[in-house]
Amino acid sequence: MLSRAQEARVLEVLGDSPSGTLRTYCLEHLAAAVKIPPAHAADLVAFVRALRARGDCEARYGGFCDADGHDTDDLLVWRPDSPVEGEGTGSA
Ligand SMILES: [Zn+2]
Repeated sequence: MLSRAQEARVLEVLGDSPSGTLRTYCLEHLAAAVKIPPAHAADLVAFVRALRARGDCEARYGGFCDADGHDTDDLLVWRPDSPVEGEGTGSA
């Protein structure tokens, strides 16, 4: 499990983009930005999955990582431009 502080930093890093701009991170660079050690990479993946399930982030495999400007086949995550506020929107 990630600590609360680490989870907060993930959200901070993902949310740190100008409005109207999507900033994508591969997991490697997201972990680097949040300073999560490689030993906790699986925890980061689990947290990203949970965020995605709640609609707090988007993720897909393959694409362009804005954090370091490279293409990747691995998981990319980003914060949607209009974060879903509240719970139970029920559209899923
Ligand atoms: Zn990257």
